[in-house]
Amino acid sequence: MVKKMLFAASEVYPFAKSGGLADVAYSLPRALKNLYAVTVVMPLYSMIDRDKHSITSLGESFDISMGGVDYPIDLYSCSVEGYEYYFIYSPILCDREFLYGTPESGYKDNALRFAIFSYAITALLKKKCYEIVHLNDWQCALAALLIHKDPVLSPKIIYTIHNLAYQGIFESSILETIGIERSYFTMGSLEFYGRVNFMKAGIAYADEVTTVSPTYAQEILTHEFGCGLEGFLHFHHSKLSGILNGIDTEHFSPASDQMLVSPYTDAKGKKANKTNLLKRLGLKGLTKPLFVFIGRFTGQKGVETLIEALPQIAECECNIALLGEGEERYHEGLETLAKQYKNISLTFGYDESFSHQMYAAADFLLMPSLFEPCGLNQMIAFRYGAVPVVHRVGGLTDTVKRYEKYQEDSCAGYGLVFNTPTARALLSAVHRACDLYSEKKHYERIVNHNMKSDFSWFESAKAYSTLYERLY
Ligand code: ADP
Repeated sequence: MVKKMLFAASEVYPFAKSGGLADVAYSLPRALKNLYAVTVVMPLYSMIDRDKHSITSLGESFDISMGGVDYPIDLYSCSVEGYEYYFIYSPILCDREFLYGTPESGYKDNALRFAIFSYAITALLKKKCYEIVHLNDWQCALAALLIHKDPVLSPKIIYTIHNLAYQGIFESSILETIGIERSYFTMGSLEFYGRVNFMKAGIAYADEVTTVSPTYAQEILTHEFGCGLEGFLHFHHSKLSGILNGIDTEHFSPASDQMLVSPYTDAKGKKANKTNLLKRLGLKGLTKPLFVFIGRFTGQKGVETLIEALPQIAECECNIALLGEGEERYHEGLETLAKQYKNISLTFGYDESFSHQMYAAADFLLMPSLFEPCGLNQMIAFRYGAVPVVHRVGGLTDTVKRYEKYQEDSCAGYGLVFNTPTARALLSAVHRACDLYSEKKHYERIVNHNMKSDFSWFESAKAYSTLYERLY
């Protein structure tokens, strides 16, 4: 009998997306389709277009009781290409402009919001009898504790850390509001330097804990990358492992991507897309290498390093296009540079279709991340024939091999790798990238090789499946 699994995430593409978690929550359940009966559950945020996705009420409502207050929940669902999605609607959780808060700070009542989500996940487990629950990131971590506390529930719990930098840390006074007994406010459970840490619940009470790349699973055990949880993770290390994320190769497919002006299958086919993008952005020079950055403008993504290096990168014979949104403090620096250099183009915002056009047009993708749990951009870049230029850290270490060591018969993806996250190292990698680009034939050989390399979910879905089966 195929086992029933509930896969819970706070964002899922195409309904709501702020980053890689949404891509994973879209594609991993699909990759597991022949092995498990997976239902995905997420909040029904107000920005989700119910009509467009044919999301309808299941006619099932219930109350969640926390700290003496009842919170009403309505259940919704839809089916996309045969995949089942459940949505939790609660006004407090869902009626917001953003998913988690403004780029500057999280919403003040996020503890309550995502406690509601976690209680609703637990209620669903009771209603529909799932054998496995896969929880993702801090927003559903509390569900692991709620399941542990519940005398009736016994599904196996997998908890995946997509980014240890976001742990869901709140004042301890929240415990009463979210109906969690003070007896859980201990070092072995929720307590974290006098505050409450939701992620600790996922780590403490899950049967298996995964991160999204093998290297990151090792890195988070160190002081440098552990974000204060390295000791706690060490304690639980016997159930910790890293499974590399994949990408959905049907969604990210330059040969059939409807968001592109000209779908393509090899390096030469990128030209029409590059011509179009340069024109749209007012950049000149089709024969110059085009470097792009697509991502959150945050410290994690190495935006400070990028800002420091950009003036010298712009002095090279190249074009640079940046797309992202994030912390206000970086906006001014980026805007100043974009005004100063006519070969730098800057677009603020989140735009799925434009990002696909940028991957398709780009010759190189810049990823100077300070830390990177996995990173999907570099895999998407491989697929679209943009050569990644990356800091050797986390999932970038696992996915990007040095182009200097290129081997035709290998299935690895190749790019430009630098060892320290400094402007100098980034600039040097960009210089090497320009040199590579000038060796047209070799550059195109690498692009064509990368476009064929396999970053699908095939192997990783097998690894998750092995993990789930180990629990039985
Ligand atoms: P994160 O740490 O932000 O989750 P990942 O590399 O795991 O980073 O995933 C980022 C995903 O979000 C990729 O699909 C990337 O293309 C997309 N993305 C990031 N920023 C933007 C943006 N401004 N517009 C469109 N897509 C974006």
